[in-house]
Amino acid sequence: MGIQIRNLTKRFGDTAVIENMNLDIAPGEMVALLGPSGCGKSTTLFAVSGIHRVDDGQILISSRDVTHAPPQQRNVGVTFQSYALYPHMTVEQNIGFPLKVRGETAAEVRRKVAEIAELVRIDDLLQRKPAALSGGQQQRVSLARAIVRRPDVLLMDEPLANLDANLRIEMRTEIRRIQQESGITAILVTHDQVEAMSMCDRIALMQHGRVVQVDTAVQMYNNPTHAFVAGFLGNPP
Ligand code: ADP
Ligand code: MG
Repeated sequence: MGIQIRNLTKRFGDTAVIENMNLDIAPGEMVALLGPSGCGKSTTLFAVSGIHRVDDGQILISSRDVTHAPPQQRNVGVTFQSYALYPHMTVEQNIGFPLKVRGETAAEVRRKVAEIAELVRIDDLLQRKPAALSGGQQQRVSLARAIVRRPDVLLMDEPLANLDANLRIEMRTEIRRIQQESGITAILVTHDQVEAMSMCDRIALMQHGRVVQVDTAVQMYNNPTHAFVAGFLGNPP
């Protein structure tokens, strides 16, 4: 169960952007992919979600080899820093869209949307359009839409990057709560070590397409295995 990334390599042309990457994520665990801009975090997420084809290695989700499966057969929910909500639809229609596409009945869609809206605490906003929501509320809607199908895995790429400082702190706690209450296995991509440390069970620190260290925040801070880790966490040896 969970997610296994095995010997993953992804090239753009001749350049390996992800090189022989390994990462094991336990069921219900939330792991941060942390590292500087350009180190390959988003590319890794695109590989797991199936948006990018990979050149080598394997990806397993819930023990199933999905390396060559199209995105819609991977049972993953995805959210980005831009929330990509449909502007002409209400919040309720936005969240229900993935269920409607799947052919679920209107009654079923309404029931599941109501349940998720309660979890992410937007039940009073269901009839609004996205333009009438704050950034934090839009992010909640985006999260709700990502998990309404009850996917095995939630993938988040810099979900807090567009929020102002106060909202960002509030949403750190909220995303963690939602992840824990839903029990979903999650990957959080971020370049912000405070975010990674405060939200996740473990951190996978990346540099140049490789995972340098995977550990709890405390372990990584106290026992960095590599000068890059110490430097990145602001605790140079
Ligand atoms: P991060 O999310 O960690 O900032 P990315 O995964 O977006 O990094 O990018 C990793 C590297 O791959 C960067 O050097 C980037 O320029 C390159 N890259 C990303 N997407 C493409 C693409 N579609 N074509 C060519 N190079 C790309
Ligand atoms: Mg990125």
